Amino acid sequence: VNGSARQDSPLFTVQSPNVQYTADEIKSQYAYQTTEVTRTADNKLVATPRATNYHFKVDRKVGKVGMMLVGWGGNNGSTVTAGILANRRGLSWETREGQQSANYYGSIVMSSTVKLGSDAKTGEEINIPFRDLLPMVHPDDLAIGGWDISSLNLAASMDRAQVLEPSLKSMVRKEMAEMTPLPSIYYPDFIAANQEDRADNVLEGTKACWAHVEKIQQDIRDFKAQNGLDKVVIMWTANTERYADIIPGVNDTAENLINSIKTGHAEVAPSTVFAVAAILEGNVPFINGSPQNTFVPGALQLAEQHGAFIGGDDFKSGQTKMKSALVDFLINAGIKLTSIASYNHLGNNDGKNLSSQKQFRSKEISKSNVVDDMVAANHILYEKDEHPDHTVVIKYMPAVGDNKRALDEYYAEIFMGGHQTISLFNICEDSLLASPLILDLVILAEMMTRVSWKTDAEGAEYKGFHSVLSILSYMLKAPLTPAGTPVVNALGKQRSALINIFRACVGLQPESEMTLEHKLF
Ligand code: NAD
Repeated sequence: VNGSARQDSPLFTVQSPNVQYTADEIKSQYAYQTTEVTRTADNKLVATPRATNYHFKVDRKVGKVGMMLVGWGGNNGSTVTAGILANRRGLSWETREGQQSANYYGSIVMSSTVKLGSDAKTGEEINIPFRDLLPMVHPDDLAIGGWDISSLNLAASMDRAQVLEPSLKSMVRKEMAEMTPLPSIYYPDFIAANQEDRADNVLEGTKACWAHVEKIQQDIRDFKAQNGLDKVVIMWTANTERYADIIPGVNDTAENLINSIKTGHAEVAPSTVFAVAAILEGNVPFINGSPQNTFVPGALQLAEQHGAFIGGDDFKSGQTKMKSALVDFLINAGIKLTSIASYNHLGNNDGKNLSSQKQFRSKEISKSNVVDDMVAANHILYEKDEHPDHTVVIKYMPAVGDNKRALDEYYAEIFMGGHQTISLFNICEDSLLASPLILDLVILAEMMTRVSWKTDAEGAEYKGFHSVLSILSYMLKAPLTPAGTPVVNALGKQRSALINIFRACVGLQPESEMTLEHKLF
C-alpha cells in the first residue's frame, strides 16, 4: 500500500550504535533531552539542560489483531466496517463525480507522512508513511466484530446510517449482511429515551451485574478463538451516555466499583462495565470514543492496578480538531482570542441521542475545555484564570442526516484594540471523519502493547507505558492523561508527541525543524 512495507521487512532501518535489530525486537538507547527550570531568590529563572537515558524495546511481531466495536451497528461502526472491506478488496465504485477508489484518507497512520531525514546526496527531505515508523497492524488485516443493542446486521445498519454511496454499498452488501452484532447491555437510564425503539438485542438486566462483565469477557475470548487472534482492542463507539455521578463508596475506588457492579448499583454505566471487562480480561486495550465519564476514578484505578491500557475520551473529528489547530495558531501568533461560539446541527442518530439534555451535557463538557492549555500557556495575553468566552450549541436537525454542520465564530483582539473575526462553516459526513480515527486509535493502542522501556539503572526491567495512553490525544477531544499530568489539546503538539516517541523507539532524535543544513553554509 502506497509503497509501504508489510510487517516483516521495514521500509527503513536505523544505523546507529544505539539501535539493535533482532528478528523479534528493535532495541534502542535514547537520551531524552529536557530543560529544567528553577527560580532564584530574586525570582529569576535558571534553565538547565538535562538528559535522561532510556532504553526502548519494540516487539516486531504484530500478530493477528481484532477490533471489537461497542455500537458496531451505528453510523461509525457500519461505516468503518464497510471502509475496511472496500480497502481490503481494493474496490472502486461509481459516483456521480466518477469512479472512486477505497482509501484511508483522514487516518494519520495510513494517510499522513513523517519526515525521516534528508537525502545524503541531494539534501532533499525524505518523507515516509507514518505507518512505516514502527511495525504496525494494517487496517485491512483487522478482524472486525462487536456488540450493539440493535439487532440489525451490518448491511442493514449501513443502510440505516445513510452515509455511503449505493454503488459501494451494493459491492459490500453480501459480506456485511453476514455480520451481526452480539447482544449488548442496555441500561436505559444512561442513554436518551429516544433510543429505546432500537434496543432489541439486549442481555437480560437493566443495571450492572457481574454476569454482564463475564459475558463480555466470554465474547472477547470467543471472538479471539473464532478468528485465531493474538490480540483484541475494544472501542466504545456506542451512544453518548449521561455522566455517572461520582459517589464515594460506589465508584471512587477499584474495589468499590467492582462491588457496585456485583451488587447492581444503578450508577454504573454500560461503558464502564465494558471497560472493567476489558481491563480484567488482560491485554485488551479499551478506548472510549464518546464523551461520557466511562473512566470513573474506580475504573482508572483498576486499569492502573492491572497495567491495562485505556484511552479516551470522545473522538476529535471535526469542529474540535479545527479548534485545537486554529486556537493554537492564534494564541501562538500573539493574538488574543476573546470568544468562541460553536454551533452544530446534525441529523444522525448521534444527534437524536444528543437532543436529550443529559447526554448533550456530556458532549458540552468534553467540547468546552479544549483550549485551556493554550490559554494558560500565554500569560502575556491572559491573566491567571482568565478565559475566552466559549459556548457550544448542538441541535438535532433530521434532514441533514450524517452531514453535520458546524458553524464557529472566533473573535479576537489584535494590535491596538482592533478586532479580528473568523467565521468557519464546516460541513462533512460525520462518520467519514470518525471512522479513520477509530482505525488510528486501534492501530496505535495495539502498537503500544508492543513497546516497553526501562531506565539506565542497574537491574532495571522493561515495562509498558503508563496504563492511561495519553499518546492517543491527537484523536481525542478530551484526552485522558495519567493523574496529575497535564492535558495537551494543541493539535500540533499532540502530533509531535506521537511521532517523536515513535522516533525515540528507533533511536532517532525528535524532528526539530531547525534545518541548519540549509541555513549554515
Ligand atoms: P450512532 O448512534 O449511529 O451509533 C451508536 C450505536 O451504539 C447505535 O447503533 C446504538 O444502537 C448502539 N448502542 C447504544 N448503546 C449501546 C450499548 N450499551 N451497547 C452496544 N451498543 C449500543 O452514533 P455514531 O454516529 O456512530 O457515533 C457513535 C459515538 O461516537 C457517539 O457517542 C458520538 O457522540 C461519538 N462521536 C462521534 C463523532 C463523529 O461521528 N464524528 C465524533 C465524536 C464522538
